[in-house]
Formats: sequence, C-alpha cells, structure tokens
Amino acid sequence: MSQERLRRIRDRVRPFPDFPEPGVLFRDISPLLKDPVAFRTLIDLLEDHVRASCPKIDLIVGLDSRGFLIGPPLAQRLGIGFVPVRKKGKLPGATESISYSLEYGKAELEIQSDAVEPGQKVVIVDDLLATGGTMCAACELLKRLKAEILECLVIIELKSLKGLEKLNSIPFYSLLQYD
Ligand code: AMP
Repeated sequence: MSQERLRRIRDRVRPFPDFPEPGVLFRDISPLLKDPVAFRTLIDLLEDHVRASCPKIDLIVGLDSRGFLIGPPLAQRLGIGFVPVRKKGKLPGATESISYSLEYGKAELEIQSDAVEPGQKVVIVDDLLATGGTMCAACELLKRLKAEILECLVIIELKSLKGLEKLNSIPFYSLLQYD
C-alpha cells in the first residue's frame, strides 16, 4: 500500500478538540468526502485490501452513520450487496437489537433479521474504532444471524483506547492509526 496514497487520506482527516464532549479529539472525515480524488483513493485502498484479505466475501455491513458513507461505494466496487446496521427504531420489520455502553451513556443498534443468511461471509465497516463498543455490538448482532465475520474494517483506529482488545480474535484492519 503506497505511503503517498495513505498520506493523501491522512491529510484530509481534520482534528476537532473538545467535540462532542470536552476532552474528546474528534477526527472529522468531511474533508475526505469532499475531495473526490482523496475519496476515490480511500475506496481504492479499501477495495485492494478486501480483495486481498477476504476474497470470498458475500456482503459489506456498514454501521450508522459514517459506515454508510464508505460501505456502499466499497460494496459497489466489489460487486456485492450492502447491509445497514442502524440506531434503534429506524428499521422496519423484524429486527435483532443490542444495547451497549458508550463513553457517556448507552446506545442501541439494530439489524433486520433477514438481512444476512446463515453462513454468509461479511466484512463490517465503520469510519473509526475508538473504545470498540460499537463494533463489538455490531459483531454480536451478526453472530446472532449466524453470519461469518471475515473482518472489521475502519479508516481510523484510535490506538490508545484499546478497542481492538474488545474484538478478541475477530480479524481487524485500519488504514490510519492515531495514538
Ligand atoms: P466506539 O464505540 O467507542 O469505538 O466509537 C466508535 C464510533 O463513535 C464510530 O462510529 C465513530 O464514528 C464514533 N467516534 C468515536 N470517537 C470518535 C472520534 N474521536 N472522532 C470521530 N468519531 C468518533
């Protein structure tokens, strides 16, 4: 993976101190989405990675909400479908849901019960891994549907929050790492 292409992406991630809470350094990917060359480079790198690491993938699963920005273009490149995992109360029909802890308070995620067939191979994507609570909850939903999770994939990993430890043995990959 070329350092030049990674640098182009890193340059388009903007830090915002004390958002949305004091003490949080928010990593804003809006400039990355706004720059068509950098955004295409991002999807190129993710596509290359998934083709190499997960050749037998059936579906991309994206997490509400910034996983919805990178999941569908990646799935289109790979010629496969996209499944959303949403915040509570947004999906019609039968759903599986799970509540989990955030740094402050609780949240709940849902997936449609028929979104994935048992045994289907999925990669779960989001913009960022912080404490790992969101990704871990999504993995639990996919396990309940008996999906095979090939990998959890993010643009940005905040290493100091040790989210990777929560994922136990599930394969994980991040394009950019910050301390
Ligand atoms: P966590 O569950 O703690 O791993 O948090 C991951 C989710 O929260 C992702 O969906 C991110 O979009 C969002 N998030 C958490 N921390 C940050 C941060 N410092 N900058 C941007 N997004 C964040």
